[in-house]
Amino acid sequence: MIELDTITKVYTKGFLRRQKTIAVNNVSLSIKKGGSLGLVGESGSGKTTLGRIALRLIEPTSGMVRFDGVNLTALSRSALRQIRPRMQIIFQDPDTSLDPRMTVRNCVAEPMKIWNLVGPHEEEDRILELLEQVGLQPDLIGRYSFELSGGQKQRVALARVLALNPGFIVADEPTAALDLSVQAQVLSLIKSVQKKTNLTLLFISHDLQIIEQMSDTVAVMHKGAIVEQGTTRDVLKTPKDPYTKNLIAAAYESETWLGKERGRSL
Ligand code: ADP
Ligand code: MG
Repeated sequence: MIELDTITKVYTKGFLRRQKTIAVNNVSLSIKKGGSLGLVGESGSGKTTLGRIALRLIEPTSGMVRFDGVNLTALSRSALRQIRPRMQIIFQDPDTSLDPRMTVRNCVAEPMKIWNLVGPHEEEDRILELLEQVGLQPDLIGRYSFELSGGQKQRVALARVLALNPGFIVADEPTAALDLSVQAQVLSLIKSVQKKTNLTLLFISHDLQIIEQMSDTVAVMHKGAIVEQGTTRDVLKTPKDPYTKNLIAAAYESETWLGKERGRSL
């Protein structure tokens, strides 16, 4: 269970830090254990900032984050370190988390070594098990990550995350950089892994159609605030907020909603 309670984030910059951007404005939401919440909104609406605050990768200006009842915002560095492997992120660009000069074996082994999760004798088996879980052939184990396709890299990035047995994952536009055909495969992989392992998922996207596929509940973000939230079905069927209505109308207009061809953005 993840709970965000009245989160605000103000970025400051410039002379005497006088230039302020309110990136997240008084946001509350929760995701039940094993649930998937889709956070949707246009670029600059504050999604990434909120996702990182949920993992305490950045500090909120005010408000509280709870993970399984533990107030993350009050944890010391060492207490946070204990809980860290349980909360992970998948980035839009897999190159953010993969070193091109490392083999697939080392990419997947690295987090397990850092967190001391496997002995040297179990390591190879565990890596192979994870590769299978993310749909990669075992013979890729010796490849360098720069040799992989975008979809394969994102699968390796997912294997790295799953190696830590996380309870909560933030996926921040994880397929936005991939070709459409590959996008669909990676999305259904994330979805099936989430269901199988009872992961709590915060799935960020600017694409409502992807959110519909990935999430039971949805929160619509606009200029730092949540303007509407509810079950994905209700919000898409009977949106109440004018911004949500626009988002849906724009999606219909620019693409064939649930049709054959899907574009990348609203
Ligand atoms: P999204 O992920 O929805 O595109 P972001 O969370 O990245 O939104 O950004 C929200 C707002 O905060 C934007 O106006 C952005 O320019 C600003 N912002 C994001 N990160 C920083 C930062 N590190 N410093 C200053 N402003 C930032
Ligand atoms: Mg973003």
